Amino acid sequence: MAISRYDEVEEYMEVKRDRTKYSKQYYLKNKERIKKYHKQYYIKNVENILRKNKEYNKKNKEKITEQKKIYNKKNKEYHSKFMKKYYILNKEDSSKRGKKNYQKNKESIRKRHKQYLQTKEGKAADQRGKFRKRKTWENAINTLTAQEWLNILEQYNYRCAYCDVEFNCELLPTHDHVIPLSKGGNNTKENVVPACQSCNSRKHNNILSLGVKNGTIKV
Ligand SMILES: [Zn+2]
Repeated sequence: MAISRYDEVEEYMEVKRDRTKYSKQYYLKNKERIKKYHKQYYIKNVENILRKNKEYNKKNKEKITEQKKIYNKKNKEYHSKFMKKYYILNKEDSSKRGKKNYQKNKESIRKRHKQYLQTKEGKAADQRGKFRKRKTWENAINTLTAQEWLNILEQYNYRCAYCDVEFNCELLPTHDHVIPLSKGGNNTKENVVPACQSCNSRKHNNILSLGVKNGTIKV
């Protein structure tokens, strides 16, 4: 009886299945050895591998960007969901880590930022920031007088509205806008409270996220 095409294919598939099964088993049995071998191979040939990768990337630049675009599009929602979840779960940790990292590398971070501001992109970003700041000031109602500011300070007993620290000539008060200018607040006596530098920068552009401890303003 002649072997039909169907049988041939079946036989071939059988062998293939067996092989995958076998190679899987082989891999599981020798996992450590194989991993070690690959690692050693990588270390030995790292320069070659990197060079080849670079060459490949250069040759296929367009193809890779296209692939990345498709991948990002496909996984956009998943990725942003995952990052949000990760951020919420690790909020405190990451902000702590960020602070620690900043304190540790303060000098180099500042230096890098200064260098960035010297570049074309840095200058443009700086300009954009200044423009936005000027616009928010221009759009706000600006009526706070020096006398009103002194009255506010007195009302708060020369203390920070958020952490209650007392101001002195080393710890100067800053104007804090209860509703930030960037969110439609104004520079008026109704919208300004005294805050120490630390609370002011911690509050950033959130609306009273710290809560007022001292004084009469309520959310
Ligand atoms: Zn404070």
